[in-house]
Order: sequence, then structure tokens, then C-alpha cells
Amino acid sequence: MADYIRIRDLEVYANHGVFKEENTLGQKFLFSFEMEVDMKRAGVSDNLDDSVNYGEVCRKVHDFAKANTYRLLEALAESVSRMLLMEFPQIISLKTEIKKPWAPVGLPLDTVSVEIMRSRHQVYLSIGSNMGNKEAYLKNAIQELDEHPMIHVRQVSDFLVTEPYGGVEQDDFLNGCVELETVLYPEELLDALHEIEQHAGRTREIHWGPRTLDLDILFYDDLIMDTENLTIPHREIPLRDFVLSPLSEIAPDLYHPVLNKTILQLKDECKGKSGI
Ligand code: ATP
Ligand code: CA
Ligand code: CA
Repeated sequence: MADYIRIRDLEVYANHGVFKEENTLGQKFLFSFEMEVDMKRAGVSDNLDDSVNYGEVCRKVHDFAKANTYRLLEALAESVSRMLLMEFPQIISLKTEIKKPWAPVGLPLDTVSVEIMRSRHQVYLSIGSNMGNKEAYLKNAIQELDEHPMIHVRQVSDFLVTEPYGGVEQDDFLNGCVELETVLYPEELLDALHEIEQHAGRTREIHWGPRTLDLDILFYDDLIMDTENLTIPHREIPLRDFVLSPLSEIAPDLYHPVLNKTILQLKDECKGKSGI
């Protein structure tokens, strides 16, 4: 059984809507939240730091809804939910409902509303560099990830020197793995990773060739997807000891949702294959 903190119908006068008048005159919005929080600690300690300060939640929502203007309730709900999940790590998942009692429909109605359910996603990345100051490239990338407003870095493995892979003559690699939490969707996360690669001066010339920084998504929750731009889990995981070794340091029991094996199992099997 989960524990919840609920806020019902927090009233904010703000300017969201598709019509010009809505953006200038403003109207009333009612925010309701159902926050899944593990209350066992706070239940025993009686200490506010162990729970979610709902007064602070209300103030943050109020300020956010006043400071930004969205055309759609959908976009407002998404952004408010993301903000709360990033600001309050104690919130495990969140149901957000926003009502618009004065929606300009021209017919009598009580309220129009949207309701969405969101949570943070657990992601594992592989990071690598084989040009210039490799360690500095990796460390800067991790710092940039953590400074991103929609990403929290949770764990970083040791870095490991590895020989290049894929048959291109080039310098050794420095590789590692990172665990993060994010509210970004996979495509948005990939865009953010490409941007960080750009900041490191990454150019794409030879496939599997030398690079200042390479950031790959290994896992995104237990999501399985395969589109033109994104394959998750990353296809080469079972073949790469330079991924499985650092990953087994921070997530040995993580389950591969396609191969149905843990990282430790995959690492043992990969070692057996080396030399082929
Ligand atoms: P590899 O993916 O085998 O390690 P690479 O990292 O050298 O090769 P890149 O040139 O960095 O390959 O990336 C090419 C494209 O791969 C990216 O632009 C991206 O669209 C796509 N891609 C597919 N799946 C993923 C993933 N899980 N993580 C990162 N990029 C991916
Ligand atoms: Ca790669
Ligand atoms: Ca890549």
C-alpha cells in the first residue's frame, strides 16, 4: 500500500490559454496533487525533513504558474509536474490535476480539467572519451548532466582504460557508467546528450572513430524501444566489457529487459567470449 499527500484545489490567478484575452486578462486555475511519498520515516521521526513540505509545494506551484504562460493546460500540467518531481526527490510519483472553472467555452459548465500521472525515470548511460584530456571530458560531462534542470546524477562508476573497439586504429578509451534520474523523455534526453557532446567539441567523422566525448543511453527504466534514432536498451551492451564492467559496479543486479539477465550475468558471459 502506498502513502499519499494530497493538495486539493490550490487557487492561482494566471494567464494560460490559447486566446489572447486569456493571456492578458487572466483567469482562475485550481491545482490538485496526489503525491506518492514513503511516509514511514516521517511517521516515526515526526520530522518535516523526512516528508514533503506541502506549504512549500503550494508556494512553488503558485510562483511557477504565475511566472510562465502556457497555451495548453496539458503543457502547464506537464511542466508543473516536472518541476515538482525535480524539486522534491521524496515524491515517488505524482498525479496532477488542473481545473479551469472559467474556460471560455460559451456554454455553461462547471470546470474543464486535465489530469496526468508522472514519475522520474531511472537511466544508465555509458560515457567514453579517447582524445585529449579524457578524464576532464568525462568529469565535465557528468557535471553538465547534473547541472541540467531536469537531470539528477545519482551514481558514477570508476573510469576504466580500454582498448578501442570496432577496428579503427586509434588511442585507448577511458570509459565509465552513470546512473541518473530524469523527467526527460528518451528523445529529449538524447538531444540533451548530443548537446553536451557538442560542448566537448565532438564531431562525427568515422563511425566508431576517435571522439572527445560519447554519451550513450544504455537503459531507460525497463523501456524497450527501437526507432531510427534510438534503440533502448543499447544494442551492444552484451558485447562490451567496457560497458558491463563499470555498470556492474553501480548496478550489478539491474535486469536487462530483453535478454532477461542481470548485468553481472551478462558480464560473466561477455568475459567468456573475449578473444573471439
Ligand atoms: P555505438 O552506438 O555503437 O556505441 P557510437 O556511439 O559511436 O556507436 P554515434 O555516432 O555516437 O555512435 O551515434 C550515432 C547515433 O546512434 C546517434 O545519433 C543516435 O541517434 C543513435 N542511437 C541509437 N540508439 C542510441 C542509444 N541508446 N544511445 C545513444 N545514441 C543512440
Ligand atoms: Ca558509443
Ligand atoms: Ca554515441
